[in-house]
Amino acid sequence: MFVCELTQDIKTLTGVGKKTREDYGNLGVSTIGDLISMTPKGYEDRSHRVCIGHQNDSDGTWTNTFVRAESVSEFGPGRKNVKIIVRDTENNQKAFLMGFNRTFLAKSVFPGCYYHLYANVVPYGTGLTSSQFELKPVREDSILLSNVGDLELNQGILPVYSLSGGLTQKTIRRDVKAALALAQGIDDELPQSLIAKYKLISLDQALREIHFPTSEKALKEARRALAFREVFYLQLETKRRPPVERKRKAIENRVYAAETRFVESLPFELTDDQKKVLSEIRQDMSGPESMNRLLQGDVGSGKTLVAWVSALHAICNGAQVAFMAPTELLARQHAQVADALFRDCGVTVAFLNGEVHGRPRQALLDQLKAGNIDLLIGTHALFSKDVVYRNLRYVIIDEQHRFGVEQRQALLEKGIEPDVLLMTATPIPRTLALTVFGNLNVSTIRTMPKGRLPIITYLVDDSKRDRMYQAVGVEMQRGHQAYFVYPRIDDEGNSDLRDVQTMYEFLSTQKYPSFKGALIHSRLPEEDKIAILNDFAAGKINYLVSTSVVEVGIDVPNATCMVVEHSENFGLSALHQLRGRVGRSSLQSWCFLAFEKNITEDGKKRLSVLHRTNDGFEIAEEDLKIRGPGELSGLRQSGFMHLKYADLEKDVSMMSTARDEVDSILAKDPGLISLDNAVIRKVLSLQK
Ligand code: ADP
Ligand code: MG
Repeated sequence: MFVCELTQDIKTLTGVGKKTREDYGNLGVSTIGDLISMTPKGYEDRSHRVCIGHQNDSDGTWTNTFVRAESVSEFGPGRKNVKIIVRDTENNQKAFLMGFNRTFLAKSVFPGCYYHLYANVVPYGTGLTSSQFELKPVREDSILLSNVGDLELNQGILPVYSLSGGLTQKTIRRDVKAALALAQGIDDELPQSLIAKYKLISLDQALREIHFPTSEKALKEARRALAFREVFYLQLETKRRPPVERKRKAIENRVYAAETRFVESLPFELTDDQKKVLSEIRQDMSGPESMNRLLQGDVGSGKTLVAWVSALHAICNGAQVAFMAPTELLARQHAQVADALFRDCGVTVAFLNGEVHGRPRQALLDQLKAGNIDLLIGTHALFSKDVVYRNLRYVIIDEQHRFGVEQRQALLEKGIEPDVLLMTATPIPRTLALTVFGNLNVSTIRTMPKGRLPIITYLVDDSKRDRMYQAVGVEMQRGHQAYFVYPRIDDEGNSDLRDVQTMYEFLSTQKYPSFKGALIHSRLPEEDKIAILNDFAAGKINYLVSTSVVEVGIDVPNATCMVVEHSENFGLSALHQLRGRVGRSSLQSWCFLAFEKNITEDGKKRLSVLHRTNDGFEIAEEDLKIRGPGELSGLRQSGFMHLKYADLEKDVSMMSTARDEVDSILAKDPGLISLDNAVIRKVLSLQK
C-alpha cells in the first residue's frame, strides 16, 4: 500500500467522534493516510532525565524528572490559580509551579506524593518557576514509594503537532499511533536503486520514526528519507511540467511610439540592465509560450520602472495588465506613481482594494469588464471572485515572496494564459534558483542606476549613539529626510527595547525639537498611514519614526538616513530591505545599525555582513550560511513551495542531488517503463 491509498476514514478509529473529525478536517486530515502524513512541528524529548535547574533554557530544553510535591495552595482573585512547590528527588532543587486558571490541580495534586514533572522551568528572582508544566502521579500509591529514582523515566521523544479546535497533543498522538498500527507495511515510493544508493531507511520505518522517534539519530534518518522522497518528486514534477503553450495571439515584439516617448520622457536614462531585461521580456511575450519570468534585482535597482515600461508595451498591444503588490500601502503608492507616469500616454489606471464596496466597486468592475481600464493595481483583491477582466494578458507581481502559490494561481486563472512577471528584491541565491525552478526564467538587474553612491553603513553601539543622532540632525538641516525604525510598537514594561512610541517622544522633544517628525506603525488606520507617507514623500515631514512597515518598496529619494534600532533583532534580508529605503538618488546616504550591549557574537557577525557589502546577492548567500535564530531570508515562508520535510535552506545539496537523479532517470528512461522505475510511474498516476 502507498500512503495515499490509505483512504479509510479516520472516524473508524476508536475515540474519533464527529467533533474530533471536524477538528481534524480543519487541518486537512480526513483519512488514515492523511493522519500518517501529518508532520510534527516539533518534539518533546522525554527520553532522559533532566533535573530541575539543569536545563539549558536558552535552547528550550525542558525539565523531565521526578519530584515530590511539598505544598499546594490556591491564590489570586477567586482563588483561580494554584501554586505548587515541588522538589526534585535527585538533586533536591526546588521549583514553584504556577498553574494559572488550573483550579483542578488543587484537587489532584497532594503534598507528600511523587510526580513525574515535564516542565519549562525558568529562573525567576532568586528561585525557579514554571507556568508550563505537566504533572503526573508516578503511581497511585506513590506516597508509599521510598525510592522513585529507580523508576524508568524514559518516555521517549514525543511529537508535537499543530492543533485545531479541541484537539490536544494527547489525542493526536493516540490517533497517529492507531493509524500507524493499522497501516502495516507501507510501500516505498522511490526506486530501490536510489534507496540503496543513498542508504535511505524504508518509507514505512521513516513514517514511524518521524512520529515516534526511537532516538535523535533515527529521527534524523527518517527526516532525511522523507525529505529525499519529497524533493525527488518535486524535481520530477518541475521537469515533467510542459510549458504553457500559447493559444492566443502573442504580444508583438516591437516597440511602439508611445513606449519610446514614455521612456524618453523619463528624467533619466534606463540602465543597461534595465534595457536588457526589457528586451528579454518583450522577447518572451512574443514567444509561443506564456512568459514566466522572475525579475530579481536589489532594492532601488529600478525593477518597478521596468514593470511600468513592460506594462505599457503590453497595453500598446491591446492587453489589460494587472499589477499586484504585497501590501495595501504599496499598492496605493504604486497606483499614485503609475497614474502620474501614464497621465500623458492615454493609459487608464485604476486601483482596487478590499475596502472598496458597493456602487463604486461595481462601477470599477464594470469598467474593467468592458475593457476601459488598462492597468489595474491592487493587492490580492485583484483576484477576488467578482473581478472579471476583459483581456487580462499580463500579470505583474511585486515582491512575490509574500504571495502564496495558490493566490498566484487564482490570478492566473483570470487571464488567458497571461504572461507573468514576478519581481523580488530578496534575491534567490544562485544555488537555490537553479534547483527550485524548472521552467521559470530569471532576469537579474545587477547594476544600480547611474550616479548612485553606495550607502555608507555604520554599526552603532551605545558609545556612538549620540554621534549618530547628531549626524542625522545635520542631514535634516541640509533638507534631507530620515527614517528611524524600531522593532516594536509599545513597551509592555518587561523589556528595554526602544519602542516607537517612547522613542518618538524622545526624538521630538530631546533630539530634534526644531524638525517635524511623524509616527507610523502597523496599528494605525490605513488612511492615516497613507496620509503620513504622502506628507513624508512631499517633504512636509523631516523624519519618520516607524516599525518595519517601511520595509518594502517605499520610495522617497530625498531620504538619506536610515536608523535601525535593535538591529540585532532583524534578519539580514529585512535589514537589507530597510537600508534600501535610502540611497535612492544621487545623494550620499547613510544607514545606522544600532545594537545593544548584550548582542551575541552571531548577531555581530550578521551585522558585519551588512557593514561589509551592499550586494543583496552576497547578503542572501551569507544569510544561507549564517543561520541565526528566527526567519532570516524569508525563503521558507516564501510560498515558492510548501515543503513538509525538506528545508529550502539546509537541504540545498540534497535538492541538487535529487535533480541530478531525476535528470539521469528521465534521460535513460523517459517513459519510466523499467522495472526499477515502475514505482515512480505508479506514484505519479496515483497523484492525479
Ligand atoms: P525597485 O523597484 O527595484 O526597488 P524602483 O523601480 O522603485 O526600484 O526605482 C528606485 C528609484 O530609482 C525610483 O525613484 C526610480 O524612479 C529611480 N530609477 C529607476 N530607474 C532609474 C534609472 N535608470 N536612472 C535613475 N533613476 C532610476
Ligand atoms: Mg519596487
